[in-house]
Amino acid sequence: MTNVDQRKLDLLVIGAGASGMAAAISFQQTLTAQGKDPADVLILEKNERVGKKVLTTGNGRCNLSNKDMSLSHFHSHNTSFAGQVFSSVSPLDCLAFLEEIGIVTTAEGDKLFPMSKTAASVVDAFRFQLEDLKIEVAENAVVTEIVKDQDLIVRCEDGRSFTSEKVIIATGGACAAYTGSTGDGYKWLHELGHKVYAPKPSIVQLLTDNSVTKALSGLRLDAEVSLICDGHVIASQYGEVLFTDYGLSGPAILQVSGEVSRRMKKDQLTVPMSVSLRLFDEDTLTCIRGELETRRKSFSSRPIDQILLSVLPQKIALQLLKSSLERPMALPVSALSDGDIGKILNTMRAWNFQVLGTRSLEFAQTTIGGADCDGFSPETMESSIVPGLFACGEVLDVDGDCGGYNLTWAFASGILAGRSAAEQFLNGAEA
Ligand SMILES: Cc1cc2nc3c(=O)[nH]c(=O)nc-3n(C[C@H](O)[C@H](O)[C@H](O)COP(=O)(O)OP(=O)(O)OC[C@H]3O[C@@H](n4cnc5c(N)ncnc54)[C@H](O)[C@@H]3O)c2cc1C
Repeated sequence: MTNVDQRKLDLLVIGAGASGMAAAISFQQTLTAQGKDPADVLILEKNERVGKKVLTTGNGRCNLSNKDMSLSHFHSHNTSFAGQVFSSVSPLDCLAFLEEIGIVTTAEGDKLFPMSKTAASVVDAFRFQLEDLKIEVAENAVVTEIVKDQDLIVRCEDGRSFTSEKVIIATGGACAAYTGSTGDGYKWLHELGHKVYAPKPSIVQLLTDNSVTKALSGLRLDAEVSLICDGHVIASQYGEVLFTDYGLSGPAILQVSGEVSRRMKKDQLTVPMSVSLRLFDEDTLTCIRGELETRRKSFSSRPIDQILLSVLPQKIALQLLKSSLERPMALPVSALSDGDIGKILNTMRAWNFQVLGTRSLEFAQTTIGGADCDGFSPETMESSIVPGLFACGEVLDVDGDCGGYNLTWAFASGILAGRSAAEQFLNGAEA
């Protein structure tokens, strides 16, 4: 990068992820929309390139939004904050913003992706727009400190320091640290007087009693997943479930995982929880009952472990039978009582796995917790403690469900932070 040490910037953005790039672009767009020249904007990014996490999203396809944007998909200790932000920059405004910078979308069910189904093209669109708007990016710039003086002073690990009246913290959460988000923003915000909720993983695999899952490691099935806490279903999701050495994964499990995390303290569950898998609906179970009763006669001398032939993959069938019956699998099918068949059907209705916890933040797709939204204005994203300091994206205590909600939050809060900082900048220039 060029020698920008000690330079005073019109805007400093820390973090070139989804929210930081959106904030910088939105700042410059607000200025140019008013006929002004682009301002002196610098993004400090610790990675060697911008948008590293965006590249990993949606398995490299970038699920960037969703047709169903109901607020129930967003979670925070401040339950009204995300809704207030979306009343200024709605999910549709985010799509318009993306289209303006060259990202056209396509739907797969309710999920929206770039038409290319390639996350790299999303990062490219942001990169080109940063260049067009003359936004400078300092890569390999690891910010270590923000100090409030007359201006805000931002210092980097390598000794460089920068000043600006306006700084946007867009450093992300504390999950998937390999993408650069290591929770640095939390530390600075805490030092500047903000409350920070301890980060926890969400959209993450579940650790369960693994006696069955280990034997089925790598196998998948579709099921209605219910998360049960104190005898009540607190979350449910239909979809693919993946058995693993440590427990359960797959889209349906990831979707309910946040509710496990929220009930954990220091890696320990605060209440007993279990996952129940429903493999078939009632009509299908009635058919399966008839089939098993027929097989009890027609395949009477075969061993029990063959009775679910073609109903389920054989390995899964064997584990399901072992979970249902305390009987040797080598016994003949004719030995099964009506009660035994009822037990097999009950396991297909509710195959239970005791939940032990979640995998760590490193494996998660988003972070629960972060900087308390109460310390920020939902109209501007500005800190109520440090004037001129803004925050956006995952560093704030807002997490979304799986399905494009986290990127939408990153875009909306980033656009709003950039726009608000630009309006202040314009007002300051006029005063
Ligand atoms: C594997 C995976 C898949 C996902 N898939 C989806 C999906 O399909 N749809 C969806 O909506 N969401 C998805 N998410 C979540 C989504 O990517 C994030 O919520 C979103 O990118 C957060 O944006 P952000 O700008 O707040 O933070 P980030 O994208 O994490 O960006 C923060 C940036 O700040 C930089 N930074 C951090 N500390 C410093 C520092 N000290 N100095 C300088 N720079 C710093 C980081 O290097 C990083 O580039 C996924 C996440 C993961 C991990």
